[in-house]
Amino acid sequence: NEFEDYFLKRELLMGIYEKGFEKPSPIQEESIPIALTGSDILARAKNGTGKTAAFCIPALEKIDPDNNVIQVVILVPTRELALQTSQVCKELGKHLKIEVMVTTGGTSLKDDIMRLYQPVHLVVGTPGRILDLTKKGICILKDCSVLVMDEADKLLSPEFQPSIEHLISFLPPNRQILMYSATFPVTVKYFKDKYLRKPYVINL
Ligand code: AMP
Repeated sequence: NEFEDYFLKRELLMGIYEKGFEKPSPIQEESIPIALTGSDILARAKNGTGKTAAFCIPALEKIDPDNNVIQVVILVPTRELALQTSQVCKELGKHLKIEVMVTTGGTSLKDDIMRLYQPVHLVVGTPGRILDLTKKGICILKDCSVLVMDEADKLLSPEFQPSIEHLISFLPPNRQILMYSATFPVTVKYFKDKYLRKPYVINL
């Protein structure tokens, strides 16, 4: 397989090659075409397999840069991972006019509110802070058609799980959920049965 096989926007393909990726990794080969069809995904994927690009590439492809609304949310369990993931989105999307925002607990809420007065297409962050901003009506998710959950086993800890379920209630009915998890504990299975629709299961 080749990245050309996915009929991605030329600007996105440029970002992929400039990052030095020559061919899709196995998780990317499984994820990208399925995610592009709009199907939900539950993938077992370890770090180091290329899973970040496996969800960032289809997410970036789906964003319409001319529509200044939040179209993708990527949930992660830590600020460090949020920063890393946003960096990957910015690099891969370097030639696309896509605005990426990082928002996590432990930073200024006021700064995040100010940032949301400017255009944002893609939000990467931790569940509590995103829910806070959404409940205030400042982060608007009614046009967010893609929700990514990275490290879902960690995200579905008792600390985050209620916030995630609450956040999902703000998404439009046609939302797509892409879940990546190193392990499939009962919390992940429960969530899959409750929220994913005919998910394509990837088990590499
Ligand atoms: P990840 O599993 O997302 O943390 O990625 C692990 C490492 O693999 C990162 O340094 C990526 O930049 C790199 N990587 C991801 N996809 C590819 C690819 N298709 N070709 C070469 N390197 C890749």
